Amino acid sequence: MKLSHYVKTYPYREKPGYLLFFSTKRASKILLPEETFQDIENNTLSPFDQALLSKLGMIVEDTEKEKQEVLGFFDSINEKNRGLNIIAALNLDCNFACQYCFEGEIKGDLYMSNMTAELLTDFIRQKFTSSKKSLLVGFYGGEPLLSIGLIRSISRSLNCFIETRDASYSFTLVTNGSLFTRQAAEELVMLGLKSVQITLDGPPEIHNRTRPFMSGAGSFDTIINNIRQTCDIVKINISGNFEKHNYEQFVDLLDLMDDEGLTPDRISSVKFAPVMKRPEGTASPADFNDGCMTINEPWLVKAEKLLRGEILRRGYYTPKLAPMPCAVEITDSYVVNFDGNIYKCPAFIGNQDFAVGNLETGIRDYDTSHGLDIWKNRECRECRYLPLCFGGCRYMTFVRAGNIDSVDCKKDYFDASLETLIKQDTMQIKRTSAGINAS
Ligand code: SF4
Ligand code: SF4
Repeated sequence: MKLSHYVKTYPYREKPGYLLFFSTKRASKILLPEETFQDIENNTLSPFDQALLSKLGMIVEDTEKEKQEVLGFFDSINEKNRGLNIIAALNLDCNFACQYCFEGEIKGDLYMSNMTAELLTDFIRQKFTSSKKSLLVGFYGGEPLLSIGLIRSISRSLNCFIETRDASYSFTLVTNGSLFTRQAAEELVMLGLKSVQITLDGPPEIHNRTRPFMSGAGSFDTIINNIRQTCDIVKINISGNFEKHNYEQFVDLLDLMDDEGLTPDRISSVKFAPVMKRPEGTASPADFNDGCMTINEPWLVKAEKLLRGEILRRGYYTPKLAPMPCAVEITDSYVVNFDGNIYKCPAFIGNQDFAVGNLETGIRDYDTSHGLDIWKNRECRECRYLPLCFGGCRYMTFVRAGNIDSVDCKKDYFDASLETLIKQDTMQIKRTSAGINAS
């Protein structure tokens, strides 16, 4: 057996003579004595250690075969995928006037019609082939709760459809939280609502400035009250969009959440991300940054280390490091805009060059336009970070270059931050399951 090509090791100051092994392919980690390297090299691992390290993906029979398997990662998950994921942007309207809203130029009285909603459910029925077992729809906007009637009718129609199959239907909301009352939550949970993502842009003095109501009034108190009223019946994921000049104040938000009773046992997850840049003259949804890293600026590395550390220190859950495929590479994943145009990523909504089809005409070939396989170049093939990156975010490449002809390389970012992120994840493991040192 050999050391996996996708293992990174870091010294562990808290335990001299030990190294922290991390597999970028499996997102597994384990603390081992330094001499383990030699044992792997000399093939002198005990049968127990060999079995454990093999299970964690730290050692493999053949590293060339392993690299080939990683190259086939998306083929494999697309083949095995028993789910269909649809994001539906029900409108481009909003009752907020967020400062950084990317939809600014295209926002307005633009709603999905009943006819388009019917075409959407037809599209879903057609894509939900006999091998499919789970249907997940993410209702999105604008503000999706301004279209609550459509959420009801689409969900009722999909619940009826799913009843005819041995499968499940659930949905999520990305909402500004102002209309998410107890009454709305109770009704939507009955229709299949699984979780809600609500944005809080820092403590009230920042949030009320960046995310006011259309009237100019602050929205912070309304949102906090709604979260307090609903977090016992639905999973609430808190997100937040920080900027270079204000990220440090997001720590105050965590204290304030605690004061308001929004403690880690009541909140499903907390994740802060930078406001995403966009090219001049293009439009894209403001709240889409979930799971997507942006550029390698040093302040971002510093901001992420600080905020992730503070989130974990307080006992909130935040997503762990894991292979993070760009949705563009996932076949059964589509974003449908209010007008029926179909995209592969919400960040591209409204950019016609990146529409991959329409509910009436179907899906076109998008392999070239979306840079599928762009990461299968010599440098990425040899890169130990490949399973965490797969060429990065297509949208960020587009933001920088105006096209998707190259990768969005995160090497500098991983070099600067991976060790800290892994150690932060270790803190989370220790807290949830004392005594475990491998995952
Ligand atoms: S292009 Fe970027 S924002 Fe869009 S799904 Fe891929 S990683 Fe996420
Ligand atoms: S884009 Fe950069 S970080 Fe990502 S796999 Fe390629 S070389 Fe590695």
